[in-house]
Amino acid sequence: MATDGHAAEPLVEHKPRGPNLKNPPLLPEDQWPTYPGFNFEILHRDQGDSDARTGRLTTPHGVVETPAFIFCATKAAIKGLTMEQMKACDTQIVLSNTYHLHVQPGSEAIRDMGGLQKATNWRGPMLTDSGGYQIFSMGHGSVSDEIKGRRGATDANPNPPSLLSIGEKGARFKSYHDGSIKQLSPETSIQIQRDLGADLILVLDECTPFHVDKEYTAASTRRSHRWALRSLNEFVRTANEGAQQQALYGIIQGGVYRDLRAESAAFVNAQPFFGIAVGGSLGASAADMYRVVDMTMAMVRRDRPVHLLGIGGVADIFNGVSHGIGTFDCVHPTRLGRHGGALVRVRHWPKSACSLAVQSSPPVHTNPRGIDTFDCVHPTRLGRHGGALVRARHWSRGGGEGQVPRASIQLAKGQFRGDARPVDAECGCPTCAAGYSRAYLHHCVRAGELVGGALLTQHNVWTMNALMADVRAAIAAGTPLEQVEDHWLAPGLRSADIVAADAMRRGGAAAAAAGDGGDGSVAATHATGVAAAAGGRSDGGGAGGGSGDAADDGSITAAAL
Ligand SMILES: [Zn+2]
Repeated sequence: MATDGHAAEPLVEHKPRGPNLKNPPLLPEDQWPTYPGFNFEILHRDQGDSDARTGRLTTPHGVVETPAFIFCATKAAIKGLTMEQMKACDTQIVLSNTYHLHVQPGSEAIRDMGGLQKATNWRGPMLTDSGGYQIFSMGHGSVSDEIKGRRGATDANPNPPSLLSIGEKGARFKSYHDGSIKQLSPETSIQIQRDLGADLILVLDECTPFHVDKEYTAASTRRSHRWALRSLNEFVRTANEGAQQQALYGIIQGGVYRDLRAESAAFVNAQPFFGIAVGGSLGASAADMYRVVDMTMAMVRRDRPVHLLGIGGVADIFNGVSHGIGTFDCVHPTRLGRHGGALVRVRHWPKSACSLAVQSSPPVHTNPRGIDTFDCVHPTRLGRHGGALVRARHWSRGGGEGQVPRASIQLAKGQFRGDARPVDAECGCPTCAAGYSRAYLHHCVRAGELVGGALLTQHNVWTMNALMADVRAAIAAGTPLEQVEDHWLAPGLRSADIVAADAMRRGGAAAAAAGDGGDGSVAATHATGVAAAAGGRSDGGGAGGGSGDAADDGSITAAAL
């Protein structure tokens, strides 16, 4: 990792273990920040089983009704759309990335433009992250890609930067922009975010990949706590230096380990942060992520706004909202759009495809000791009622997209040539309302015309905001979230399907383990379902959110109802 001129530099220090590392002094209560101009109030709580709630997050630049989606203006720009267009799509809040703006053009340059909101003409609430995630991706490279579902360089980060060292003080790295050596520490991250001037800012943290051992995760989590305290101290020290009031979020780390998440949640709960973000490794799959969110949210104090970092698949949002998450961010809707993909709801798909798609009750009661046999009336009852079990090969792929419901469609596909309909005739977005046809969008995408990606991004932004509005309305009206999800995702793609598919996989693995010499035969009694979605991620968002383009989760093991 050492580069020319830095041969003597230590290699990346991956072990945040050191002798006698002590927490910085805790801030005395009489010095705690008070966050003038900010407020969070809970408006409605789900009266059913879930912890879903609506809230009103007030900032000096306006109000965010939660749950809400935060769109990524990574380098102080939404790729393909102006902020006026974002506003026309009912966007409430956007974010920019501290690390990328530190590299180019530098936070002082943004400050001299009057701050992010003035420079971008986004006059609403805004968030900046701390740059911690980039430190993590510099240090762990492909593992970051793994968690985020990314393959190689990304749009947001086309030139992966070069990390020179990471240690207790912070990180040193070589700029991908001009080769200069840059520093990012808890203190400089806050100073940069002061210059940028977003309403909501984050403490510096390190995000570990899921495959590192518990010892590493524990040491990293505690270092992130020390960084959080330093960030808090710097936030207080610089309270009068920024051009405007800001509010600081702490970040809960702890990886996939319950006791570490509990330790981290207790730490963040106790410190005077305005809001709480859930970060760190969320596991290797969407189902892992749901488990980590579930167990973490059970430990989070309920009077603060909660943000889930980097997650934004449609099914992931339903899962997160049900646990009380208020805001989500992910590059997926905008990246999908500029690569020719359009988010679609269930109504896009023929009823026949949806009703035949997937029946996905959990097939087994999971049992870590191993399950060998299953019983259920389902196969016989199904047959009596006209249903037939089918395998993945039943469903066509590629050109037969119309037969397999997904969370998005890819306009580049040949089936849209000559299709005069808008993406969604019932959609109110500026693209669909203006009547742009699938045929024209197909042409633009195929021809590489930028306006095609912009029009689809506009549709996707509007659609995500419509999704969040539906979610808020349902919570306020006491409507079960599952009913809303049924309108958005076809069977097999829903959050419950992802959980069910995971339970089936785990049950199968347990059964296999028992067959290899397990210590007993255990039957799962009255398991009700047979099949569930395999790889049923909603839209490529998955555990990291934002992996990608149009979902290609065409392999579905399906049981007709
Ligand atoms: Zn539309």
